[in-house]
Formats: sequence, structure tokens, C-alpha cells
Amino acid sequence: MSQQIRKIALEEHFMAPGFEEYSKAFIQHIPDDQRRQLGTKLSDIDEIRLGEMDKAGIDYVVLSQTGPAVQAEPSVEKAIARARENNDFLARRIANHPARFGGFACVPMQDPQAAAAELERAVMQLGFHGALVNGHTLGTYYDDRRFDVFWERLQALDVPFYLHPIDMLALPPSFAGHPELNGATWGWGVETGTHALRLLFGGVFDRYPGVKVIVGHMGEGLPFLRWRFDSRFGAYPFGVKLALKPSEYFTRNLVITTSGVCSHPALMGAIGEMGAQGVMFSVDYPYESTAAAAEFIDTAPMDEGTRALVCHGNAERLLKLNATVDA
Ligand code: MN
Repeated sequence: MSQQIRKIALEEHFMAPGFEEYSKAFIQHIPDDQRRQLGTKLSDIDEIRLGEMDKAGIDYVVLSQTGPAVQAEPSVEKAIARARENNDFLARRIANHPARFGGFACVPMQDPQAAAAELERAVMQLGFHGALVNGHTLGTYYDDRRFDVFWERLQALDVPFYLHPIDMLALPPSFAGHPELNGATWGWGVETGTHALRLLFGGVFDRYPGVKVIVGHMGEGLPFLRWRFDSRFGAYPFGVKLALKPSEYFTRNLVITTSGVCSHPALMGAIGEMGAQGVMFSVDYPYESTAAAAEFIDTAPMDEGTRALVCHGNAERLLKLNATVDA
């Protein structure tokens, strides 16, 4: 067995009571036996999860409600109430294992002011580390100026925003007849990568330069296209003006996790583009294997300083945990 390094993981999901209805759309496509096992793991915030973490050398995880959560709630009032309910539930469960678990808040983006207020409550009163939002809310994207109130608050609180996948609201013609493409295999990455680019090209990071957005799944492929974003945006700017080159917002504002992409060549490429400070380990529990993710990062061909940053140093800096390596 390879040498284990201490790890922090950031895209680790649970299911709060009553939130199953929102997740049916994608969970129904998972085979029966796997679905039962997933249900058990999602609702456990105790021994099963801690056992897997211990075996993998994962010290601390930041928990988030599994998708799409309140992003799929059509009633604004209900979204506000359920986000709050979710965060209170999670805070109570974290209190049983405060050294092992932290939380990302569920926020009702249906109402940007309410989302900012709930984020602040979750960070200031519940001790959460930021928010995890499952993509668009009923087709609304957060580069819209209506969300400036939210970004301003996020920046002031100095916490990260995890932009997590969700289904596209409407499928483009290229997906017709291929349901296997619309989901975790491909569609979620296209949807989420596009949303992250909307934030970048929409000027959110110029208006709020302190905002940190975390994108999972090896940055949904975006790091590999940094050079092309500069080159082609330079050729076709459509009147859009940015303070920096598109590539310069990577790592400054966009950071990534390795969730669900356990490939050494992909990791090396991402670190090459982002630098060692822009990449963080994650599992995507319970949809991905904790053991496989740990083995992947423990055996990745990189120097120990880089491994320490990717496995825990960058997360410690971003989440303001007790730092154990210089970053
Ligand atoms: Mn996930």
C-alpha cells in the first residue's frame, strides 16, 4: 500500500430529511442496488462516512446537500425556508463530530438578498465555510447584476462558493437521442463550465476581485482551455471588456478540485495550468469511491510540497483552518 498523506475533501454530499424529492430526477437513473447503497451513505453523517475517511487518510470534509437541493424549488418562500432548515440540520450533525466535518451552506438564489443573508447567517452563526450551489436556479445564472448583492457579501465574508453541477434547463439539439450524455458523463460538465465562464466573462471577478469560485471535476475541463480562451476571446471579444486576460482569473478567482477525475495525466495538466495553489483534492462522496480517490492522490507523480498543497494546504488557506504547510 502506498504512503498516505493527510487530506481535506470539499465536494462531499449528504441528504437532509425531505430533500429526496429534489434529487429524484437523477437518482432514478442509478440501478436499484446502487441506489439503496447511495441512500444509506448520503443519510449517514456518522460511522460509515468516518470509517471511509479514516481508511483513506481524510481528516476533514466539508459537507454539502446533494443536488439539486433548493436550486430546483419553484417557490421562493419555500426555497428560503428549506435552505435555512437544511443548514440548521447540518449544523446539528456537524456538532457531533466538529473536528471531522464542516459545512457548505445551501442558499436560496431565487432571492439574491435572501441568499446573501442566509450565507452570512450560516458563516457567522453556524460556522460554515461558504456555500455550495447546484448551478443555475430554474434557468437563472449568477453573472446577472441582480446577484451583485450576493457576491459582495461573499467577498466581505471571505468564504468560497462551490459551483456544483446540475442538469441543463433545456437540451441543445446536439444531445438529442443521447440521454447517456446528459448528466454526470458530459452534460453537467458543459453546463457547469459554461456557468463558470459566464461569471468570468460577465465581469463578476472584476466587480468582486476577492471572490473565489471552486469548480469540481478537474475544473470541468476548463483549465485545459485557458490558452484558447485568451486567444479566441482576443479575436472575438464581442465588445466585452475585462480587466485581465481570461487565463489570469484562473487560480486568482477560479480554483478547482479533483473530484471524480482520478487520472494522473489530467492532474498534472491541471497543476501545469493552475499552479499548485489552484488545485484541491476532493472525492465527490458517495457517488465516487473514497478509496480510489485517495489511492489516486497518494500515488500521483508530484513532489511532496505540491502534494501537501493539493491534499490539504490549499484547503486550509481557503477555509482558514489551522495551516500546516506554507502556501
Ligand atoms: Mn458532486
